[in-house]
Amino acid sequence: MSDTNRQRPWIIPCSKCSQSMSVAIEHVNLVVTCPHCAQSLEPWRILSEARRRENARGFDVDSAGYPTHSMISSRNKVIAGLLGIFLGGLGAHRFYLGYFGIGMLQLILSFATCGIATFWGFIEGILCLAGQMRDVDGLPLSD
Ligand SMILES: [Zn+2]
Repeated sequence: MSDTNRQRPWIIPCSKCSQSMSVAIEHVNLVVTCPHCAQSLEPWRILSEARRRENARGFDVDSAGYPTHSMISSRNKVIAGLLGIFLGGLGAHRFYLGYFGIGMLQLILSFATCGIATFWGFIEGILCLAGQMRDVDGLPLSD
């Protein structure tokens, strides 16, 4: 493993506010403070808990114990939010986040209720913008 890879900071989600933060390698075994909500966090514990989650993918670590994948979704919260607000009745934000079944359900319900169910997608769009929704892999959305 190269030195640059060893020194790469971890990007982890806060367990309280779900916002992403960068943690220097030398701090991962210490208690750090979330810059967004001031919650005290143990980066190593967040990684361990994420790896235990049944449906979590991409939390593998390499032989030196460093995560091989980002713990933040490559899907963007603003894109998901705007899709939900403007096209939420069609399930667009759900398709974007990888939830095909729920997206289809929203699409069908919107037609079946003559548009009343589009509120569901609209509200989820706001939740995406607020950082309250995760993608199909359980990862917080990127900023
Ligand atoms: Zn936080």
